Amino acid sequence: MNQTRPIGIFDLTGECPLRCRHCYFYTDVSPVPPDLDDEGFLLKLEQARDTYGIRSAFWIGGEPLLRLDLLREAMALFPRNAIATSGVIPVPTDLGAGLLVSIDGPREVHDALRGEGAFDTAMRNMAELPAQSFALATTLTAESVEYISWLPELVASTRALGILVGFHVGRPGDPSRVDGHRRDQAVDELLRLHRDFPGTLLHSRNAIELFRSRYSEEIAKTCIYKDKAVSFDVNFKIKEPCTFAENASCDACGCPVVIAHAARDGGDEASEGLLQALFPRRETMIGQPAVSGDEASLSL
Ligand code: SF4
Ligand code: SF4
Repeated sequence: MNQTRPIGIFDLTGECPLRCRHCYFYTDVSPVPPDLDDEGFLLKLEQARDTYGIRSAFWIGGEPLLRLDLLREAMALFPRNAIATSGVIPVPTDLGAGLLVSIDGPREVHDALRGEGAFDTAMRNMAELPAQSFALATTLTAESVEYISWLPELVASTRALGILVGFHVGRPGDPSRVDGHRRDQAVDELLRLHRDFPGTLLHSRNAIELFRSRYSEEIAKTCIYKDKAVSFDVNFKIKEPCTFAENASCDACGCPVVIAHAARDGGDEASEGLLQALFPRRETMIGQPAVSGDEASLSL
């Protein structure tokens, strides 16, 4: 592996109050190892940062907000941070990082995937956040893909900056995957939404196009995990080939960050702006002007 990887994706904890049906983290193949204590985590984190030259950190889990004190200390070690949360525990307003709250579909769909009450709890917690200080992450699955037209209502009701949409990444045969013709139909629907409801979807039209099945091979070849990103489990073991580990499906990758990078690397300026906004420097928050110039190369 090329040692320089400016992007680090970290499983901060193996704990999570939910057990979502489409989760790639809790599988029957690889049990999640126990968490390191804070001191041990920070020690290994600094080693990983210095070994790979990591400048941008993406905090996932489990539920990273369960270890809030550690999260704050860990984020202080990087110029740029972003956090993904299910929103089922209160979300502080002073994190100084890009914030993605996962909502998969209307209440019935979201709760069927994530558990009874998960939707209302996340909505209540988001209501405490300043408008446009966070983005939504919606992973389209076979269960949720028919609700694309509902997404503008979701953005309006949450006051989010917009939605980072992706497709469920799962092994071939995973019934939640949206593949082939159905994927292409969904892309058509997303493009219609992009045209008719500007501001709902954060991806540019160019990036949305790249979710089409005919680009999967190209996306897999240029994926950030080939030479820019490295993903660690809670014990700092590198996850191969990417954070999805054994659920990685390069034949139909739907990772929204990978897609945004592919569009950006193809010259799409809007995707550059999106990545800057979602993974801001510590003093720059979503909804405020992003930094530019040399710093662009440091972003996710
Ligand atoms: S919130 Fe995330 S980590 Fe927790 S069970 Fe759901 S998908 Fe998995
Ligand atoms: S599944 Fe993982 S390794 Fe494969 S293209 Fe997607 S992010 Fe990259």
